[in-house]
Amino acid sequence: MRISCPCCGPRDRREFTYYGAADYLNRPALDADASAWDDYLHLRDNPAGETRDLWYHDPCGTWVAVTRDTVTHAVIAAEAVA
Ligand SMILES: [Zn+2]
Repeated sequence: MRISCPCCGPRDRREFTYYGAADYLNRPALDADASAWDDYLHLRDNPAGETRDLWYHDPCGTWVAVTRDTVTHAVIAAEAVA
């Protein structure tokens, strides 16, 4: 799979580190109850089809939100995350 880094162009996915779904940064509030934190830390969806994931391009340090199809491995879009 190739991901197009907004800074470097198309690169092999092995240059990137996967950080999970792009909504991964939507953390519970610090005072949220234990079940909210348990869900956040341990429960992940495993969808078949289009997803939006957060990747980190190791050589240039750019965070990239990648929209891709988990069935076909097609990358639909890649955009820098501020
Ligand atoms: Zn890059």
